[in-house]
Amino acid sequence: MQLVYLDHNATTPVAPEVRTAMDACLTHAFGNPSSLHHFGQQARHLLDVARLQVGALLGAAAEEVIFTSGGTEASNLALLGVAQASGKRRHILTTAIEHPATLNPCAMLESEGYAVTYAPVDVDGRVDLGACEHALSDETLLVSIMLANNEVGTIEPVTELAALAHARGALVHCDAVQAIGKIPVNVHALGVDLLSVSSHKLYGPKGAGALYVKRGTSITGRQHGGGQERRLRPGTENVPGIVGLGAACALARARLTEETPRIRALRDELEQRLLAEFPGLRVNAKGTARLPNTTSLCLPAVSGEALAVNLDLLGVAISTASACSTGEHAPSHVLTAMGQSEADAKSTVRVSLGRATTRAHVDTLILALTSLVRAEGGRLTLRPTETRPG
Ligand code: PLP
Repeated sequence: MQLVYLDHNATTPVAPEVRTAMDACLTHAFGNPSSLHHFGQQARHLLDVARLQVGALLGAAAEEVIFTSGGTEASNLALLGVAQASGKRRHILTTAIEHPATLNPCAMLESEGYAVTYAPVDVDGRVDLGACEHALSDETLLVSIMLANNEVGTIEPVTELAALAHARGALVHCDAVQAIGKIPVNVHALGVDLLSVSSHKLYGPKGAGALYVKRGTSITGRQHGGGQERRLRPGTENVPGIVGLGAACALARARLTEETPRIRALRDELEQRLLAEFPGLRVNAKGTARLPNTTSLCLPAVSGEALAVNLDLLGVAISTASACSTGEHAPSHVLTAMGQSEADAKSTVRVSLGRATTRAHVDTLILALTSLVRAEGGRLTLRPTETRPG
C-alpha cells in the first residue's frame, strides 16, 4: 500500500538538507556554546549561523531571534513575558480562533486578573477589525493574533490590526507558526513586535522554535537560570535542533517562490474535483485569502473522525478539524467561532499539502474518498464497509 501524507499542518517530515546539517552538528559539534574553548566556540558559531538564517527568513536582525523549544514556548514567552515586564496595562486582545498555545496563556493571565478580549471572526475565519478597534483602549498591553489559522488556513489582517494596536500604545504578538515557509513572512511588513516560529512545521526537527523580539521590546524571561538567549530562555541550547531550524529556514527562503504556486495549483485542483464529485461538500474559508496548502472540507452528515480513520486504513493521512481534549471530542473552536453548527464542525476534515505532495497523491485521496463516501440525491453518507468498492 502506498502511504500518502496530507497532514503537513500537523507536522512536516525533516528535509534531507536539514538532516545533513543536523548530522554534521551531532557528529562534530558537541561542545557547550557557553564554553570558551574550541569545542564550545564551534557550537556557538553554529548558533550564530542559525540565528542569521532565522532572521533572514523573517527580515529580522539576528539578535532579535530568541531560540525556544517550539511554537508553544515562543507564544507563552511572548504573552507571559510581556505581562510580567509590564507596568499598569492589564488588557489583552486576541481572537477566538487562536491555537491553544495562545489561548491557554491568555486564560492564565485572565486568572491573574487581566481582562482578555477574544475578538470574533466572520464566516471565513477573518477577524472582525471593527470589533478589535472597539475593544482596544489605553489599557491594552498586548494584541496577539495568528498570521494563518492552522485548521482552515485563513490569513489574518495582521498589518492592519498592528497599526490599530500601536496607535493605542499596545505591543503586538503574531503566531506565525503555520504561515512560515508557506507564504512570505516579514516582521517589518507585518509591523509586529513579537512573532512565534516552530521548526517542525517547516521541515525542521521537533522541539525547536524561536521568538522574534523586536529591539527594545519590554519582556522578561519566564524561566530562571543562566544567561543564555539574553536571559529570556536560559538553559544550554538545543544546538542540533537549532541548527536544523536554521537550515529549514534557509531552505524555505530558497524554495518559497517556486513551491507556493505548485502547491496552490494542486490544492485548487483537489478542491475543484471534490466539489464536482461530492455535491453538498463545502470548502471552508474559500472566499478569503488562505494558505496555499490547506483545505478544510465539510462533508455534511459524514463523521469527520470516521472518515479520517477510514482514510488512514487506506493509507491516506489527513486530520479532523476537531480538537480532542481529555478524551472528549469537542467540536473545533475555530469552526464554531466561524458560525458553523456543531454537527458541521464534526463533519469537517483538514487536508494539508506539502513539499513532497504530487498529483498522484491527490488522485489517491480522491479515489479513497470515492470508495468511502456515497453521494446520492444531494446527500453524502459513509458507505458501510461491506459495500465499498475494491
Ligand atoms: N501555533 C499554531 C498556529 C500551531 O498550528 C501550532 C502547532 O500545531 C503551534 C502554535 C504550536 O507549535 P509547537 O508544536 O512548535 O509547540
